[in-house]
Amino acid sequence: MSPASMIAIDGPAASGKSTLAQRLASKLGYLYFDTGVMYRAVTLAALRREVSIEDEAIVTEIAKCLPIDVRPPSIRDGRKYDVLLGGEDITWDIRSSEVDANVSQVSMYPGVRQAMTQLQREIGLRGEVVMVGRDIGTVVLPEADLKVYLDASDEARAYRRYLECQERGEGEPYQEILRSMRDRDRLDSTRDLAPLRAAADAIVLNTTELDADQVFRRVLKMAQN
Ligand code: C5P
Repeated sequence: MSPASMIAIDGPAASGKSTLAQRLASKLGYLYFDTGVMYRAVTLAALRREVSIEDEAIVTEIAKCLPIDVRPPSIRDGRKYDVLLGGEDITWDIRSSEVDANVSQVSMYPGVRQAMTQLQREIGLRGEVVMVGRDIGTVVLPEADLKVYLDASDEARAYRRYLECQERGEGEPYQEILRSMRDRDRLDSTRDLAPLRAAADAIVLNTTELDADQVFRRVLKMAQN
């Protein structure tokens, strides 16, 4: 049997989605597509223009004509891809605590979601893709061949994010990361449109006690079956 062609990976912040997706995509020779990057880029663009994040009309306009591009990594600094906004490298700027604090508000707006979802769906339907987000299995690619929902305790997820920040030389305190992550998860899972949740046919994996290798091996087996 041929391996799953459309693979959807959803879950809350820092549940291990990107690490898993990147490894799967590289093993299977598929495209790795992290949809969170798009919502983050809209948020960064709005913050830079100093518009109010509460201004749904303006934020939606920004989303509709976002000059975003995602390419293979050009620098070896831990990045998995380059994210460009109008040609400018914003790969790390979209990971700032300011973007973290505002992205869930931006991703609630129906017009923003519609613009992002349409583009993501077009790319996903081409197949041979591992797509990561919050609503891939439920909304973006409900026809995916394999749907995985990763979860882990709040503390384990915040600690993973804390270690990533340390590696990049950023000193954000663990408690602050935990607080901001919980806020974001709460907004993402309670919004009306495309909330964070596992699809009815998703395989739910709790990764609190699993390392990245164990998660990868389990999901690879599912993809190849
Ligand atoms: O995955 P990441 O943490 O980079 O996602 C940032 C934010 O983008 C999420 O907290 C969520 O608000 C939004 N998002 C979304 N739907 C997706 C991917 C991300 O609403 N498919």
